[in-house]
Amino acid sequence: MASVGTTAAQSTNGRGSGAEIPVENPATGEVIAHVPDLHADRVAELAVLARAAQPGWQALGFDGRARVLRNLRTWIMDHGDEVVETLVAETGKTYEDANLIELLYIGGALTYWAKHAERFLADERVGARTLAVTGKKMITRYEPVGLVGIIGPWNYPLVNSFGDAIPALLAGNSVILKPSEFTPLTSLLVADALVECGLPANVFAVATGRGATGAALVDEADYVMFTGSTATGKKVLARAAQTLTPVALELGGKDPMIVLADADLERAANAAVYYSMLNGGQTCISVERVYVEEPVYDDFVERVVKKVGAIRQGPSTGPATSEVGAMTTGAQLEIVERHVADAVAKGAHARTGGKRGDGKGLFYEPTVLVDVDHSMQAMTEETFGPTLPIMRVADAEEALRLANDSPYGLAASVYGGRERAEQLARRIEAGAVCVNDALLNYLAVELPMGGWKSSGLGSRHGAGGIRKYTKQQSLFISRVHLKRELFMFPYKAKSSKLLFKGVRALYRRGKRG
Ligand code: NAD
Repeated sequence: MASVGTTAAQSTNGRGSGAEIPVENPATGEVIAHVPDLHADRVAELAVLARAAQPGWQALGFDGRARVLRNLRTWIMDHGDEVVETLVAETGKTYEDANLIELLYIGGALTYWAKHAERFLADERVGARTLAVTGKKMITRYEPVGLVGIIGPWNYPLVNSFGDAIPALLAGNSVILKPSEFTPLTSLLVADALVECGLPANVFAVATGRGATGAALVDEADYVMFTGSTATGKKVLARAAQTLTPVALELGGKDPMIVLADADLERAANAAVYYSMLNGGQTCISVERVYVEEPVYDDFVERVVKKVGAIRQGPSTGPATSEVGAMTTGAQLEIVERHVADAVAKGAHARTGGKRGDGKGLFYEPTVLVDVDHSMQAMTEETFGPTLPIMRVADAEEALRLANDSPYGLAASVYGGRERAEQLARRIEAGAVCVNDALLNYLAVELPMGGWKSSGLGSRHGAGGIRKYTKQQSLFISRVHLKRELFMFPYKAKSSKLLFKGVRALYRRGKRG
């Protein structure tokens, strides 16, 4: 692993001078690489280079840009082992988390955006409907913003950080990515691969560093795509306000799952276990809390406890060697410990797990909490770890009230008879709600995804997921026209009166438009 890290740190895309950041493998505690901690002036230099490279990249057109991104798709799949090993080493996730989420997503995203970017950004004719503009030709069109700054978290280096770069690049922008200081290696690897795949120099750069590097990027970019915690998202928004730079914020969540009495309990239990523990519970849309209708609560809990108790945890060294990997950061592990301790102190019980794992890596045992309520942090604050608190509720209405009792509104899921579950889903305050499913919606690059309330601003995926990286321009074109419009100077009483009457006659019955 050391060689991957060393090579990556020397990448021209991440080059810098001065302080360095050690990158650790959280499953073993071993330092696997060092990367530069870039200062604001270096970010400014990268921005100058990226801006200079952008017009040439835009001039390649959609086909030329899509070719590079398709090459990258092939490169990533051909070098799948190297990419997966880098992901596993810097995050502590399992081989399954890396292959079946990161690679699967990125393959789908590269294919989707390469195919549909041109259609989403094509000129659109707008039919003249307002009488005042009858006969005019109207078009909306999209121009790349120029330089997109992407700031990413540590939980999914490929999905989150790089996933957002794909539509930004295909729209014709240059991109500077500031990956998490905990997981910069995958981004550096992909940056080098992009050049090998034909990306012109400086169109994409990786600015490694901590929060200050991210803040400097906010100052430089024409658009900021931020994924991370709600607390940092607020700082990014405040900073971007200084330059009136548009931002999209994909932030934290406390996603509820509701299990109705008529649910397929075995499917619901498997989903609750998998989607709360996947990636060590470190997914923004992890199932973070479950509400189960009274008649099926005991049965559901027993099924979940048995399944979670059987989970194998430890460093992942190949396929099926571990089911739940490490926590990526020590700080996150401490949050999980704090939430469980708080819940237990207030009367909750850990039916399985409930403590740190053995060994020197950052492990927390897969944990099921029962006898929980909303006085506990485990039910109200983002835990972001392998814990599953399950709460008994009298009925669907109580479940709905509790699900919505949160400052967050990222995603949610409802398991139950389809009709009833769908009706309930529509009343949940979240940007994405799955029925008899959970999390998989993220893989639907065609379906918009963005948080409500404190979970974010804006969205990714779908047409809006690429248009946001552009400036919309409206063209208003006169084709057949008079030398002088009737409403222009000089005003004449007779024609003014006629026009006044005309306006009122036209809209009196509200039929136009
Ligand atoms: P974080 O907010 O601590 O850091 C995110 C990024 O912001 C890092 O690259 C960090 O260096 C940078 N940063 C820190 N301070 C900054 C500043 N002042 N200005 C600019 N950048 C700054 O988040 P994290 O701990 O890396 O990630 C976990 C969080 O991300 C969780 O809350 C999780 O829910 C969220 N997340 C959300 C989504 C989503 O799509 N909504 C996806 C993944 C993760």
